[in-house]
Amino acid sequence: MKIFEEIESEVQSYARAFPRVFNRAQGEYLYDEDGNQYLDFLAGAGTLNYGHNNPLFKAKLLEYIEQDGITHGLDLHTKAKGEFLETFNEKILKPRAMDYVVQFTGPTGTNAVEAALKLARNITGRENIIAFTNGFHGVSLGALAATGNSHHRGASGVGLGGTTRMPYDGYLGDDFDTTAYLDKVLCDSSSGVDAPAAVIVETVQGEGGINAASFEWLRNLEAVCRKHDMLLIVDDIQAGCGRTGTYFSFEEIGIKPDIVTLSKSLGGYGLPFAVVLIKPDLDQWKPGEHNGTFRGNNFAFVTAKAAIDHYWSDDAFSQEVKRKGEYVSQRLEAIVAKYGDGNFTTRGRGMFQGINCVNGELAGAITRQAFKHGMIVETSGAEDHVVKFLCPLIISEENLKRGIDIVEQAVLETCAKAKPIPEAVDYFDEPRKIA
Ligand SMILES: *Cc1c(COP(=O)(O)O)cnc(C)c1O
Repeated sequence: MKIFEEIESEVQSYARAFPRVFNRAQGEYLYDEDGNQYLDFLAGAGTLNYGHNNPLFKAKLLEYIEQDGITHGLDLHTKAKGEFLETFNEKILKPRAMDYVVQFTGPTGTNAVEAALKLARNITGRENIIAFTNGFHGVSLGALAATGNSHHRGASGVGLGGTTRMPYDGYLGDDFDTTAYLDKVLCDSSSGVDAPAAVIVETVQGEGGINAASFEWLRNLEAVCRKHDMLLIVDDIQAGCGRTGTYFSFEEIGIKPDIVTLSKSLGGYGLPFAVVLIKPDLDQWKPGEHNGTFRGNNFAFVTAKAAIDHYWSDDAFSQEVKRKGEYVSQRLEAIVAKYGDGNFTTRGRGMFQGINCVNGELAGAITRQAFKHGMIVETSGAEDHVVKFLCPLIISEENLKRGIDIVEQAVLETCAKAKPIPEAVDYFDEPRKIA
C-alpha cells in the first residue's frame, strides 16, 4: 500500500522489517491482507503475553462496551477501575505478601518510568539515578536518560542528565560482580558519582539483548541499595506479567523493590495501560503532581482484570509458562550446540529467551529468513544481534515447536549461505495460506 510511503513518517521501525499490511490476528497468529498467516514471536514486543484478541477478554470487553461502561475516565473512581484494583490486590499482591499502592500514570511504559524516577527524586531530594549498560526504559526524556541505546539517546536533542551508568551483570565478564564496583564508588566521596536517589534495573534486559541478571547479582544490588539508602526501582514492563514464569520477574529472587513499573502485557488485550507500584510509605505524591489525560483507560482495566482472573487465580499458568520456558531452553541450547561454531550462544530465562549471534548481520539474516517461512521474530541488543523469542505465553505447544523449528531452519539456511551445507532441506514452504 503506497499510503504508508506517501504520508507516514520515516520514524517507522518494525514496519520496515515486516513490510506487509496486516489486517487480522488471533492467538499466536497474524494475518496479512493477502491471507498469509504468520506465527507471531514478536507479540507486540511483549505486550501480547495472552495472545492477540484473547476471546475471554474480548467477551468481557464487548459486554462492557454494550452496557455503555465508562471508556475514558481521567482518574475518576469508576467501577471498572475499582474492580481491577480489587482483583490486582487479591490475586497478585496479597498472595505474594506485597504491600504496594498503585499509581495510574499515562498509559505508556515510559510514562510509568517518568513517574517512578520523579517520585524517587522528590522523596530523596537527590537527582542522580543509577542506570545500567544496555538498559531500556523508554524514550521520553527522563526515561531516555536512563536508557543506554545511543540511537535512541541521539534523538533527544537536549542533554540527558541526572543519571550515572553502571555495568550490568556480566558486562565485565562472568567473574566480576559489578555491584561491588557500584558499592565502591558510592563509598568513595571522591569517586565523582553523586549520591543517588535510586537504582533502576530490569531483571532481564529486553531491548538490550535478553541479558538475564543472576539472582545473586540482583540480591547484591538490593543490598547495595539498602546500604547506601537509595531506592530500588525494578522496571518490570517487559519482564513482568508472567514472561519469566512468575507474575513479577523478581518473585523467586526474594528482592523487595521500593517501586515497580508495569505496562506492556498488563492490560492483557494489547490495550495501553501502565502503573507504578509504590511502597505505601513512599507514596509522597501531592494530588495531581503527576497527571495525564489518559490515566483512565477503562477498557484496559476490564481486560487487565479478566487476564488476572483467568490466568493468575492459581498456579497453573505459571507452571505452564515455566514448562514451555524449559522447552525453549533445551531447543535453543541444541541449536547453539549444532550450529554454534562460535557464532551463537543462548540468552535469557523463562519465556524471555534469545539466540545471541556473533553480529547483527547474522541475526538479521536469520529473522528475515524466518519471515519468509511465515514467522515474525525480531532482534534486540546494541547491534541488533540477538534473535528474540517473545511469543505469546498462551501459544500451543505445537506452535511453539513449529516456531523454533522455523528459526532452526532459518539458522541452517543462513549458515548454509555462508558456507554451503549440502544436506540443507526446506522443511517449511512459503507462508501458509488460510482457507
Ligand atoms: C517497552 C519498555 C519501556 C517503555 O514502554 P513504552 O510503552 O514503549 O513507552 C520501558 N521499560 C521497559 C523495560 C520496556 O521494555
